[in-house]
Amino acid sequence: MIPAQFEYVAPKTLEDALHLIERHGDEAKILAGGHSLLPLMKLRLAQPRYVIDIGRLRNMNFIREENGRIVIGALTTHSEIESSTLLRAKCPLLAETAAVIGDVQVRNRGTLGGSLAHADPAADYPAAVLALNVEIIAVSTAGSRTIPVSEFFLDMLTTALRPGEILSQVRVAPLAPRSGSAYEKLHQPASGFAIVGVAASLTLANDGTIQDMAVGVTGLGPKAFRAAAVENALRGKKASEKLFAEAARHAAQGIEPLSDLHASADYRREMAAVYARRALQRAFARAHGKA
Ligand code: FAD
Repeated sequence: MIPAQFEYVAPKTLEDALHLIERHGDEAKILAGGHSLLPLMKLRLAQPRYVIDIGRLRNMNFIREENGRIVIGALTTHSEIESSTLLRAKCPLLAETAAVIGDVQVRNRGTLGGSLAHADPAADYPAAVLALNVEIIAVSTAGSRTIPVSEFFLDMLTTALRPGEILSQVRVAPLAPRSGSAYEKLHQPASGFAIVGVAASLTLANDGTIQDMAVGVTGLGPKAFRAAAVENALRGKKASEKLFAEAARHAAQGIEPLSDLHASADYRREMAAVYARRALQRAFARAHGKA
């Protein structure tokens, strides 16, 4: 449980950090909250020669409104997201999701950027950011680029971030009128990670039909994904408990569920339907101003 030797560097500016990452390439690892990287280093599953601590960079820990979007800096901790009055009012799904990550210690140190960049298949935020259709901003010495979240999660622990890039911020649209969202997870009791987690966001038309929705699923497969089959079964339909239950049955469609000591593939598949139904029902109730 002792990491291999490494050199620790704590740049003071983003520019310095980017140059260090570019210079050291594969030999370097970015350190944010350390709650995923350090366990890997202690198990020697990661043995970086250089650890570049971005935790001291200024201007990467904020939650603010900009041009009609809510922008969240990558170093914002889970606790700060959980307790943000702006997010609770205008993007409650992120605050709700942050509140059920791990325990207080994890939430006080772990960061949004670290969790997304790590892309653990059982992490909570990936389901929420897919349901919110966020944009992810990556910076490098070459400049910055915007990655739609639909293109971000590529595989287990693998994202669209390129070598030399730092995830700098996440941009999300505020909740629209007649909309509701919810995150429901079956958590693994020891760590809190999701055995299955489903985030749902939906908008109702004036006549009460489901106009728009997005359903993000985590824990089920090697990467978080949008449950397109659930969404297709709901779009344009009049909401009802029966409709949600039927649509939720498609939550694992096209996915080969993971199987491990915490849950079999069959159990995960069944739970995906249960938690999808619960998330949809609660999002719907909230769109009506209830729950
Ligand atoms: P770090 O550990 O510092 O980094 C993680 C990885 O991302 C590293 O590869 C690092 O190089 C890279 N990285 C970090 N920041 C950036 C960036 N800005 N740009 C590019 N790359 C970057 N998570 C959940 O979702 N749900 C849970 O219930 C949960 N329970 C946990 C319980 C325990 C006991 C522990 C230790 C962790 C748990 N976690 C859980 C994980 C936790 O949320 C981590 O904090 C998070 O996954 C990683 O964030 P971090 O800031 O700690 O990143």
